[in-house]
Amino acid sequence: MERLKQQAIQMARRAAKGVAAIALHWSGARELLSAVQRRAVGGRRVLILSYHRVVKDFGLEEKRSLSSLNVSHETFRRHLEALQETHDIVPLEDALSVIDGSRAAARDVAVITFDDGYRDVYAHAFPVMRDMRVPGVVYVPSALIGTERRLGHDRLYAALARMRERGIGPVAVGVGGRGERWLTDALEGGADPHTALERLIAHYPTPGLLELAEALEERLGLKHEKAPDGQLPMTWEMLREMDSHGIVTGAHTAEHTVLTHAKLSEARREIAQCKATLERGVHKPVKHFAYCNGYYSAGVAQALRAEGFISAVTTEDMPNVPGADPFALKRKVLWEASSMGALGFYSKPLIACQFDDTFGMLGVQKPVMGARPTNFEKEETAPAEISAHG
Ligand SMILES: [Zn+2]
Repeated sequence: MERLKQQAIQMARRAAKGVAAIALHWSGARELLSAVQRRAVGGRRVLILSYHRVVKDFGLEEKRSLSSLNVSHETFRRHLEALQETHDIVPLEDALSVIDGSRAAARDVAVITFDDGYRDVYAHAFPVMRDMRVPGVVYVPSALIGTERRLGHDRLYAALARMRERGIGPVAVGVGGRGERWLTDALEGGADPHTALERLIAHYPTPGLLELAEALEERLGLKHEKAPDGQLPMTWEMLREMDSHGIVTGAHTAEHTVLTHAKLSEARREIAQCKATLERGVHKPVKHFAYCNGYYSAGVAQALRAEGFISAVTTEDMPNVPGADPFALKRKVLWEASSMGALGFYSKPLIACQFDDTFGMLGVQKPVMGARPTNFEKEETAPAEISAHG
């Protein structure tokens, strides 16, 4: 009953947003608000978009993967076409120059980025971008490239979805220990697999979550189930080919680690390792970084700077203002539903409102902030572990 109610509320929200978008678009209010915002930021706006998977069949993938990471290739193309009407889509370095004031822009500028290095970005987004001559950045976890390993969040989601399907609770699944405690917390109040996954990632360190994924797969007999091809990581050849068409490789840690949950010394090590591995693989300097789960700290940003990175992106859905910190760039995360109107079809007014941040300006959509304290203290409580890693 509660689940149905939540679903109904979600549908009503989407419908309201879809209808509002049409009114805002045709009344001219959207344009007016964007002019106000342009004045507020003192010039051209810099919009950085974030996608994850670009899939062939959204409906099919919805049944077998975390759908809030997915956009269909048709919708993705429509997004780019709509975006080009109002923005110049530029390489990230050009956008950085607009932000630091060293470059003037004739129109608002936008940057296309992808997180996580999914193979279907190569299969379905790359052909669209190559045709349209659109540049971009793919932020990849270096340890997964060229392997058949799936990301921890996909493995956990698959396990949580299977538990729900079979009606297995956090204790009955039998992982014991801290894994059982984490699952109990995450599933509190009958949370759906998506909510439970978000809670796990927000609260617990990545290496522990990978162990939990392993234990769940063992208990649920998922170990040898084949993942959808597009969910696998890209190969080095794919990254190099995309790079030759202006879609450059950025870093997203080695293991998709939420660095603010790790000790700062471990974060430093992973940042260095990831940069070295990527530069060896793509034969080019890697200068841009994306924080996993959007979480960052002053200490982590400092470590990135020290390793030679020149920018890092968050998932804070806000405008990038001139003079802003290049290690806390704001991004708008989009998926299929971001442009799905009241009737469940693609809505151009809705995507125009997303690009213009109309809902943010009206206070309907609130950004989730990613800044966290630097993790110094724990570093000193485990000196043995630090020396063990050299
Ligand atoms: Zn990610």
